[in-house]
Amino acid sequence: MRYESVIGLEVHAQMLTKTKIFCGCSTEFGSEPNTQTCPVCIGMPGVLPVLNGKALEFAIRTGLATHCTISLFSRFARKNYFYPDLPKGYQISQYELPICENGHLDILVDGEARRIGITRIHMEEDAGKNIHESAAGDGGNYSFVDLNRAGTPLMEIVSEPDIRSPQEAVEYMKKLRSILRYLGVCDGNMEQGSLRCDANVSVRPFGQEEFGTRAEIKNINSFRFVEKAIEYEIKRQIKVVEGGGRVIQETRLWDSGRGVTESMRGKEEAHDYRYFPEPDLVPITVGKELIDEIRSSLPELPDAKRERFVRDYGLQEPDADFLISEISTADWFEETVKSGGQPKAVSNWMKGDLMKMLNEDGRSIEECAVKPSQLAGMLKLIDNNTISGKIAKTVFEELYKTGKDPEVIVKEKGLIQITDTGEIEKAVDDVLSRHSGEVERYKAGEDKLLGFLVGQVMKLTKGKANPQAVNELLKSRLS
Ligand code: ADP
Ligand code: MG
Ligand code: ZN
Repeated sequence: MRYESVIGLEVHAQMLTKTKIFCGCSTEFGSEPNTQTCPVCIGMPGVLPVLNGKALEFAIRTGLATHCTISLFSRFARKNYFYPDLPKGYQISQYELPICENGHLDILVDGEARRIGITRIHMEEDAGKNIHESAAGDGGNYSFVDLNRAGTPLMEIVSEPDIRSPQEAVEYMKKLRSILRYLGVCDGNMEQGSLRCDANVSVRPFGQEEFGTRAEIKNINSFRFVEKAIEYEIKRQIKVVEGGGRVIQETRLWDSGRGVTESMRGKEEAHDYRYFPEPDLVPITVGKELIDEIRSSLPELPDAKRERFVRDYGLQEPDADFLISEISTADWFEETVKSGGQPKAVSNWMKGDLMKMLNEDGRSIEECAVKPSQLAGMLKLIDNNTISGKIAKTVFEELYKTGKDPEVIVKEKGLIQITDTGEIEKAVDDVLSRHSGEVERYKAGEDKLLGFLVGQVMKLTKGKANPQAVNELLKSRLS
């Protein structure tokens, strides 16, 4: 029997607001524990939350970018449960009236376009963090609670069960992350937990309409684990079904160390959250003007940019894909082209040498010493034969290290290409007289020795001779 997997993702994204969702505390990551707290976010009795307008704006931005309907009337709800990192005993979230509904996101998997429905996007507050470690010296085990994260604004983006494979799940996550970063509403850092994902997975025999029973997998914190965890879970469920058993509805945890999912709690132990409308916050009413204003401030999104790059710059899809992956990379590319760089050449240098160097240093393009106008300047030097493509590699390395203008580097290092025929002739004659053996063999039909001789001339001129001129000159001397 062949099986089809059915997957729906619940993605939590921390919003990039400066302050928390219901108080003025900072949301900055990595500060000393409990230094970014106040009576509101540590759950003191009697305090009143006030909605951060930026969080609302960010949720609407995300909804518009994913083709959702924005609710003109929505509200918060209390989700009640006990956990030490949740001092109020409830999380303020949204339940029956979320801010955004009925959207979608398009992905491309193995050249096939797929549309994944987005059920809803709602706002909620993040919980704090429990830290389990032994206190210095006494060997005992302690648990600490850090409430810096408590009250950080989150969006929960819930997909329809439209995803059909682990690869599609990864592509969906990547696309969503890219859009969130374009919008500037989330930094998408999965390692630090600002983008997290729970995966709902079920299997059914091919052709069957009805969904199978699903398991929800928590604790997935990288793209690789999205793929691995879902892959594992599909295999596990198929084995259960093939063995005559039934998949049970439960929550499972992904153990990345062992590469398995493990049961955390079953349906019977599932919480009854006793949701009810949050009495301390007024319902949210959004005017059409606000929605229009936010819509008109949306940036060009990844799909539109890719299309425009292919159309306007004559780039191949994979090149355009690379350039639009980050808005900063796309901007850098366009600035270089505006400074006179030829699009294909700019793309090649960015995808090749520049990315290699940035990756080695763990730097982003914003932190790079090379300015777009300088790469354009260097390409000009290649075009007008001042330097060869080979020498350009050396120039670019220096440019990356020092940020000096390419013209200055070429002058300082004496890298100007020799176009003076007299000088090249001298080098060619030198090489021919030193390698009479190879010359004989070339003349006897070993054509590939021409490459060797060109190489010798380039070596003698320290790579500064124009390779084409060397080639032509050698050929005419040897004929
Ligand atoms: P809950 O409220 O328990 O989280 P929801 O109905 O809101 O459940 O669904 C949560 C997620 O599970 C959604 O992303 C949805 O697409 C997905 N989902 C629902 N049913 C299935 C199924 N049978 N198989 C896989 N995913 C499913
Ligand atoms: Mg859920
Ligand atoms: Zn606070």
